[in-house]
Amino acid sequence: MTNADTLDTKATVDQVIRLADTGCDIVRITAPGIKEAENLSNIKNELIKKGYQIPLVADIHFNPKAANIAAQIVDKVRINPGNYVDRNRGKIDWSVSEIKEAQERIAERLYPLIEICKKHNTAIRIGTNHGSLSERILSMYGNTPEGMVESAMEFVRIVHGFDFHNLVLSMKASNYRAMTRANLLLVDKMIDEGFYYPIHLGVTEAGNGDEARIKSAAGIGSLLARGIGDTIRVSLAEDPVNEIPFGKKLVDTYGRKKGLAEQILTETTYLEIESNESLKSFSGVRNPVVADEKTDEADLIASKNTLQTIDSKNKQLYFKELLATEVENANPERTIFKRDYSDVQPDDLILRSAVDFGFLLSETIHGGIWLTVPATSVADAEIQDKSVRATEVAPTELSLKLLQALGLRYSKAEFVACPSCGRTKFHLFESFEKVKEKTAHLKGLKIAVMGCVVNGPGEMADADYGYVGAGPGKVTLYKNREPVVKNIDEEKAVDALVDLIKEGGDWSQSK
Ligand code: SF4
Repeated sequence: MTNADTLDTKATVDQVIRLADTGCDIVRITAPGIKEAENLSNIKNELIKKGYQIPLVADIHFNPKAANIAAQIVDKVRINPGNYVDRNRGKIDWSVSEIKEAQERIAERLYPLIEICKKHNTAIRIGTNHGSLSERILSMYGNTPEGMVESAMEFVRIVHGFDFHNLVLSMKASNYRAMTRANLLLVDKMIDEGFYYPIHLGVTEAGNGDEARIKSAAGIGSLLARGIGDTIRVSLAEDPVNEIPFGKKLVDTYGRKKGLAEQILTETTYLEIESNESLKSFSGVRNPVVADEKTDEADLIASKNTLQTIDSKNKQLYFKELLATEVENANPERTIFKRDYSDVQPDDLILRSAVDFGFLLSETIHGGIWLTVPATSVADAEIQDKSVRATEVAPTELSLKLLQALGLRYSKAEFVACPSCGRTKFHLFESFEKVKEKTAHLKGLKIAVMGCVVNGPGEMADADYGYVGAGPGKVTLYKNREPVVKNIDEEKAVDALVDLIKEGGDWSQSK
């Protein structure tokens, strides 16, 4: 997706070309208003003049008129059912007849878009995001994967009633667990109702660096391995071009291949401690990190068929390897998932381990992890592209990164950051790096850096603090979901965020 201002034709065209040249197959461009939607025509014409016929998608949030204009120009429009027509007005209780009326209003407002899309052969993506569900859906289902699915499905039923089938669906969340669950539910629901529409996959607000790649691979890759997903977007708070090599690697490795889920299951070694107590009772944590040798991060040290606790008791725990047929009935609180990556190319390590553990731990919050990494150090590895960042991390450090990204165990502050788009009017990437630098040590705190006040506050969901773009060069700071410091200059905003965290009693000095 581009992040240039959509009204800046040259900047957007240049960015689309860079993305296409890197191997991107479809480019999404934000169209928040009518002017931006109209300018898609100039962007498209410029691209054609330069020899680029790449399919374009318009990203619409609140404005049906913008959708109707964009649908005449681009190949697909993405609408968010949570805020497309059913505006939130603070209403909590909805009667059956009010729900029916709300759905009739949706149908009324969607009808012109459907007619335009039919005429211009334009596809529609019904793109649901965790954190931006309508209050009507929230009052019925809460902010849940079930609510996400229902939010999309009522649009699907309406659109289907208009005999329109050029549809794609997506269920996105910053939490890979919610995203995975929503997609699995969506598939079940579509099959139940006899719909077979393609699915677009993505983990939103994943942030940047290894953490973002792990979250994306865990969500997207583990669904691709199950045979789910037709298009993907890896969303990074980095130069948009960086999204492409990692996404291509995910598709090349996991897309449209049979038997991958079974392969992950059979290539994993399952160990169960022979004790009636849980791993947590010995290691002090729900998801202990097991290692072959003692490191700062290891909770249990393995040798032959025993694990040694690292606390002063130095207790020996005996474990046994489970047969594949026994795994389903094993107690997850006593199970350790072991993966051997010694033969994996160093630059594939992040992607492979994230998909494997994303898959293995998607249905449980328990379980220890134990992994071995390639012997080749990053210095020796020849990194051909930026598709996967080779890692110098020790196996235990990688284990902690995986557990953090999978939302299971927090060893530092948790960050969510949107990838930015044409709505972003401040230096989001630089700000995000500064925020991380100052606050990464605040273990257990969740901090969001979001590009705009239109979608940012809703989509940063359960963040403790938010740093949200409020206009050109301006930022508003949130505590929970309340704006508390409004419209400050971005130069002063990171320090102001630190002050706010201190005032909130959530600050501690870094080690
Ligand atoms: S939250 Fe970020 S990506 Fe989403 S609309 Fe706002 S600026 Fe764009």
